Formats: sequence, C-alpha cells, structure tokens
Amino acid sequence: MAAPAATLRFDIITLFPEIFSGYFSQSLLAKAIQRGLVDIRVHNLRDWSADSKHHKVDDRPYGGGPGMLIGVEPVIRCVEAVQAMAPVSGQVILMTPQGERLGQPRVEQLAPLQRLILLCGRYEGFDHRVVEILQPLELSIGDFILNGGEVAAMVVIDATIRMVPGVLGDEQSSWEDSFSRGNRMLEFPQYTRPPEYRGFRVPEVLLSGDHQRIAKWRQEQSELRTRQHRGDLLGDSDQGDSPTD
Ligand code: SAM
Repeated sequence: MAAPAATLRFDIITLFPEIFSGYFSQSLLAKAIQRGLVDIRVHNLRDWSADSKHHKVDDRPYGGGPGMLIGVEPVIRCVEAVQAMAPVSGQVILMTPQGERLGQPRVEQLAPLQRLILLCGRYEGFDHRVVEILQPLELSIGDFILNGGEVAAMVVIDATIRMVPGVLGDEQSSWEDSFSRGNRMLEFPQYTRPPEYRGFRVPEVLLSGDHQRIAKWRQEQSELRTRQHRGDLLGDSDQGDSPTD
C-alpha cells in the first residue's frame, strides 16, 4: 500500500489577509488543498496587537527617518502563538529584500519540510529584534522593493508546492523545468497545435516521432537558449539576469 501523502503546512502572518483569498482558489493550489497535500492558514498580525482599540502594530523608528516599522512585541507574540497551533515546529521565513535571493535549490530544500511560517512585512519592515530573536530564514524574491511581503510569500508558496509529490498532475512535469534539481539549463522551446501558424512552423524534428532525435534537439536548444538568455548559468561572467538592451 502506498504511504499516505505528507502535508506541507503554511502559516502566513500578514496585515492584509484578504490579499490571499483569490490566490487560494486558483485550480492547482485549490486542488492540492482539497486533497490534503497542502494546508494554508492565514493569521492577521493585528490580532496580536496589545492595542485592543485600534489594533496598532507599527510605530516610528528610533533615530528618525520616514515611515513606520512593525513592532517586535506583536510579531513575537503572534509567531509563538502560531507555532503552538500545530505539533510540528515551523521554519520561520521572513520576507525581506535584504534576504537570500530565492532560487530553485532553496525551493527544493523547503518543499520537504512539514511546516513553513511566512512573515510578511509592510511599511518600512520590521523592528530588527524580530530577526535577532526569531533568527528566521530571510528570503528575498529579487533586487527590487515591493510594498509588502504578501506577493513574495505567494511566490514562495507557488514555487514550493510544485515540488510536493502529487501536487502536479504529472509527476514528471517539474523534472525538466528550467533550474529544477540542480539543472543549470533553461528549458527547451515547446510547441503545441497547430503545426503552422502565420507561416511559423513547428520544428520538423518534433513532428518526426523519432525520440532520439527529439531528445538531441531539445538538449541543443536548451544549451542555445541558456547561452542566449542566461550565460551566467554557464559561467559567462558578463551575462546576468538584468535586462539587456
Ligand atoms: N525598508 C525596507 C528595506 O529597505 O529593506 C523595505 C520595506 S518594503 C517597502 C515592505 C515589506 O515588503 C518588507 O518588510 C518585506 O516583507 C516586503 N518586501 C519588499 N520587497 C521584497 C522583496 N524583494 N522580497 C521579499 N519581500 C519584500
């Protein structure tokens, strides 16, 4: 008998829980939740505010400067309470542009964990004692500034659940993805019907039914695309992931 599939649980801590509702209803994720492969709980940080009237969680930074910071007290209270909501302790992940830039190796390392707790910032971010006390994994989704950590948390969830066995219809379909499982190549170009559109034809080899030739063509195309778009993956120092003109 097959072993029961494990559940990956996400606890999201945010000031804007409503941002996530549409995302959860999208088909792949909704099905994964329905089948018990993924469990997602959203917690409103304001519920842990000491201010019972206005549920305030932010304050001005010491030393001056623009904007507001999310205070340490509600965050620590909230994370401790959320940790106690399930028997397995969760890996706390703080979404921040100052963190490690998320890549596929980290995604693959997170997917087998049973529980991830995602902390979404707003305003100017968090009082630094949040980092000092919780020692979270600090993750960034790229070198740009978002208004809040919610979209970044969705990126982490979206990438991670693809690695949970059973979530994708076809178990193989994440294998050949660009970056997957240490793959330093971009995926080869793919085509579907019709075989010709506005004079643009599907490469003949893909219609040939010759699996060896197809595999060879895909390997060559993979290398070509990687060289053209992401030479840095092949060790070319002058090509990174920034836009080129
Ligand atoms: N003042 C902060 C700084 O310079 O590092 C930026 C704060 S940003 C406006 C507000 C929140 O958005 C952050 O606390 C973080 O949770 C989230 N955020 C912004 N950019 C992000 C990125 N590139 N990756 C992950 N989270 C990000």
